Amino acid sequence: MTPKLYNTLTKTKEVFEPLDPKNVRMYVCGPTVYDFAHIGNARPAIVFDVLFRLLRHKYGVEHVTYARNITDVDDKINARAAAEGISIGELTERTNAQYQADVAALGCLPPTHQPRATENIPQMIAMIERLIAAGHAYPADGHVLYDVTSKSDYGKLARRSLDDMIAGARVDVAPYKKGPMDFVLWKPSDAATPGWDSPWGRGRPGWHIECSAMSEALLGETFDIHGGGIDLVFPHHENEIAQSEGAHDGHPFARIWMHNGFLQVEGQKMSKSLGNFVTIHQLLQREHPEVLRLQMLMTHYRQPIDWTESGRKQARSVLNHWYQFTAGFSALENLSPGFVAALSDDLNTPEAISHMTQSMDPMAICAAARFLGFLQHDLEAWRRWAPETVTINERAVEDLIKARNLARTEKMFSEADRIRAELDAMSVQLKDSKDPATGEIVTTWELKR
Ligand code: AMP
Ligand code: ZN
Repeated sequence: MTPKLYNTLTKTKEVFEPLDPKNVRMYVCGPTVYDFAHIGNARPAIVFDVLFRLLRHKYGVEHVTYARNITDVDDKINARAAAEGISIGELTERTNAQYQADVAALGCLPPTHQPRATENIPQMIAMIERLIAAGHAYPADGHVLYDVTSKSDYGKLARRSLDDMIAGARVDVAPYKKGPMDFVLWKPSDAATPGWDSPWGRGRPGWHIECSAMSEALLGETFDIHGGGIDLVFPHHENEIAQSEGAHDGHPFARIWMHNGFLQVEGQKMSKSLGNFVTIHQLLQREHPEVLRLQMLMTHYRQPIDWTESGRKQARSVLNHWYQFTAGFSALENLSPGFVAALSDDLNTPEAISHMTQSMDPMAICAAARFLGFLQHDLEAWRRWAPETVTINERAVEDLIKARNLARTEKMFSEADRIRAELDAMSVQLKDSKDPATGEIVTTWELKR
């Protein structure tokens, strides 16, 4: 089944034909590593992980290359490191490690490449030199700027004309700029700021050039898919196109541009001042990672998503059904055609999930769920998963259950009830059932939610 993907550039769903089916290439803008990633940042990680899985399924694991960068040079990083009194390297190492742990917990496969900006500075300098030589950029006052008037189709992704952009632009334009929309490729660094030697003096790259240089290094001039959040369309992705096409003699850059919609929390924009800013790290302490992943995928990636408590409960109950229904079954070797068709239709995960919940075949559900990164545990481990705030001593639980069963066989029912109440207070729910073979009462337990 050939996937169809919505292309922001053409505003249509297009049949996806890779440039080279033996080398399908995708680039996604990754995090700027200065703080814990929030749940909005998890959205592109999860969405493009599903696409990565689908492409690997269709073209073969070894034929898909997925690059997601790490922005480890940025003014927000400099400011945070100074505020904490630590080195930039220490801050970016720590934050990157947190990010990797968070997205791995959320079931995202590691991308093929995770290039770091600081390890690709020579490639950025080389690209800037080519842009200057091609008449697309000019050095000025220690900076290098991209001249947006040099590219007649500037604005084609965002569908904005230069005149409209200028009319809407803020007035204070830096004196070294020829035009108000010209953007920075390189800027000077003072002694206290990280910098690299360059033909324009010691300085550091602008954010946009990072992705152009790193995607070129890993995926070539023209590749298949470029992704990121919808907030990146302008200016980041528009500028990436201007840079890459400008440096490549006008050859096309990414063929399909995909953007995930924004995430808000309980109907409100997430912000530190509203107190509804949730990090992946915090959520992982309170809820099973597979629930968070499913909650994310229950909304189509292009729609805005409202991250709510009721969405969490819904995802938990769907996942609980899958765990129970598939317990003891192995996965079918092939994915069901309806499931693959839904995913192939512009990554329609809500449709794929409803296909699974309606299925009566546990082996088909198992295959689909595992494909999407779910059902990674057995039923017992799933049932006993507990938030970090609830620490449960399994030995103590088992001992209390034994004491209760003993009390019951000795007909000390009020003692048995007291023990049940004690377990109840520990959020432990008991289930008694009769072993059909021996007639003995067997007590199992799980944590209440
Ligand atoms: P940043 O570290 O802010 O550059 O963001 C990393 C990725 O997360 C980018 O692809 C952003 O578009 C995406 N992103 C940031 N905030 C949100 C949000 N609230 N909802 C969805 N995606 C987001
Ligand atoms: Zn980027």
